[in-house]
Amino acid sequence: MKTVKDYIRTIADFPHEGIMFRDVTTLFADPRGFRMAIDQLLHPWAGEKIDKIVGLEARGFILGGAIAHQLSKGFVPIRKKGKLPGQTLSQAYKLEYGEAIMEIHDDAIQPGEKVLIVDDLLATGGTCGAAIQLIERLGGDIVGCSFIVDLPELGGRKLLGDLGMDVNVLCE
Ligand code: IMP
Repeated sequence: MKTVKDYIRTIADFPHEGIMFRDVTTLFADPRGFRMAIDQLLHPWAGEKIDKIVGLEARGFILGGAIAHQLSKGFVPIRKKGKLPGQTLSQAYKLEYGEAIMEIHDDAIQPGEKVLIVDDLLATGGTCGAAIQLIERLGGDIVGCSFIVDLPELGGRKLLGDLGMDVNVLCE
């Protein structure tokens, strides 16, 4: 039987020369693969209370929407700076060169709500680290972070572990 990893392709030199880009669109395009991924992203938290699913721009929206529908819970986007229309909280984080800013609507999560974070890929953990700070600044209680792919050599899993997060990854 095919695994989630079997549906993902790697594209060389995208978006820059020397980058091996993990392309999950081939997983999303396959009905069995996509359902398998959604089920596995949720598996560690079966039976746990979850109030909101947070998806990270942009492929985390596709995963988070499907998970929110499956659980009959709300979906909250965390986006790059300047994309959300309402009042936002902003959080800067370091990139290899320079920094980036992620934002969340300041009324998207209520204090004490249980939150699951989802995205397609964990690399350095910078994006998810910023998301964790935003959710915690709103008083959310993060139950865990779930990713399809982990690139362990980039250290994101360790960083999130050091922040006390429960991390679920489907493949490397
Ligand atoms: P990090 O902040 O370094 O952990 O990078 C993770 C973010 O970059 C996620 O939002 C991913 O969607 C995106 N990303 C980085 N590399 C890849 C890749 O090879 N495939 C898909 N997304 C990637």
